[in-house]
Amino acid sequence: MDKEKLADKFSKKIKEITPSREVRAIHICGTHEQAITQYGLRSLLPDNFDLTMGPGCPVCVTPAREVDEAIELAKQGVTIATFGDMLNVPGSEESLSDARSEGADVRVVYSINEALKIAKDVEELVFFGIGFETTAPTNAAILKSNPPENFYILSSHRLIPPAMELLVDMDVNFDGFIAPGHVSTIIGKEPYEVFANKYDVPTIITGFEPLDILFGVLKFFEQIDSGETKVENAYERAVRDKGNQKAQKMMTEVFEVFDAKWRGIGEIPNSGLKLSDEFREFDARENFEIELGESRDIHPGCKCHLILTARGTPEDCGLFGDECTPQDPHGPCMVSDEGECNIWFRYGRRPKMDI
Ligand code: SF4
Repeated sequence: MDKEKLADKFSKKIKEITPSREVRAIHICGTHEQAITQYGLRSLLPDNFDLTMGPGCPVCVTPAREVDEAIELAKQGVTIATFGDMLNVPGSEESLSDARSEGADVRVVYSINEALKIAKDVEELVFFGIGFETTAPTNAAILKSNPPENFYILSSHRLIPPAMELLVDMDVNFDGFIAPGHVSTIIGKEPYEVFANKYDVPTIITGFEPLDILFGVLKFFEQIDSGETKVENAYERAVRDKGNQKAQKMMTEVFEVFDAKWRGIGEIPNSGLKLSDEFREFDARENFEIELGESRDIHPGCKCHLILTARGTPEDCGLFGDECTPQDPHGPCMVSDEGECNIWFRYGRRPKMDI
C-alpha cells in the first residue's frame, strides 16, 4: 500500500473511533511539531482533536540565566562553542550572538567533537552543552575519554519524563501523551510507565515520519476507545523496551540528576543533569568565577511560558509573525528550528486575522 493510501486509512480509522467530546493529546518534541505542521497532518485529524506541543524544544527551555553564564564566560575571554541555535537565544539582556559581535570568541559547532578540535587551538574552551537524553550520552562519552585539560562543559541538559509529569501535576487538561521517539531510543518505555499506571494517561512512543505520527495518534485513539491505558511503543523499528542501556550507563556515570529550572516554567524536580563530583575538573561552573545579576526568562509580551507548557500556541501571542520573526526573535520559541513559533512561522501558520 502506498504512503498516501496508508495515511488515508489511518485518518479514516482515527475518525471512526474518535469520541464526540473534545479530545486533546500533548506531544513533547520539536521534530514531531515540524512534521505535523510541515505535512499538514492536523488537517487529516478530527476537528474535535487538539494535538499540542509541550516543552519539547531543548533550546527553548534553556533558562536565560544559563545563557547569561555562557555570555559572561565569553566576556571573560573564554572560547565558547555551542550549537548554532543557541547563538540567538535571548539571555536576560543579550544573546551570545551579541557578545560575539562585541568581540567575544563564540564558535558554532555541530557536535562536541568539533568543540574538542577547537580546544587544541585556544587557551580555554567551554562547550555549552544543551539537549535532552539524546545528546547527554555523547557528551558523557567525551568526558570519559580523557579530554584535554583546557576543555570544560557548561551543562544545560534536561530530562523529558519529569517535564511530562509536571504537565500532569499542573492539571493542563489533556487525554494522553505522544512521547518523543528519539528520547525513547535512549530511555526506553519504563520511565513513562508512571503516566499510565499512576495517572491513567495513555502514552504512545511515536516516530517522526508523517505515517509514524498518524500511526501513533491511531494507537492513542484506540486506547481512548477501549478504555485501556498503557505505554505503547509505536516506533518499534528504533525503540527497544529497555532503551539503550549503554547510553544510560554512560549518563549515570558522568552526570547527577538535580532539580533544574526550565525557561518560563520554573524548577522541575529531578529534571536536569549536572556533572558529578568525579568529573568536576571539566565543569565550567566549578572552574570559573561566574557572577551574574538578576535574570529574566520571558520578555514583555512573549507567551513562550504558555507555549512550553501546552497552555497556548503561537496564535495566542500578539507579537507572532509581526514583531517577532526568526530574523528578529523576541523569545526562544522563535529562535530554534525546534521551537513552535519558528515552525509555525516557517510552515505558514499565521495569526488569525481580524478582517
Ligand atoms: Fe515569544 Fe515570539 Fe513566540 Fe510570541 S511569537 S511567544 S514573542 S517567541
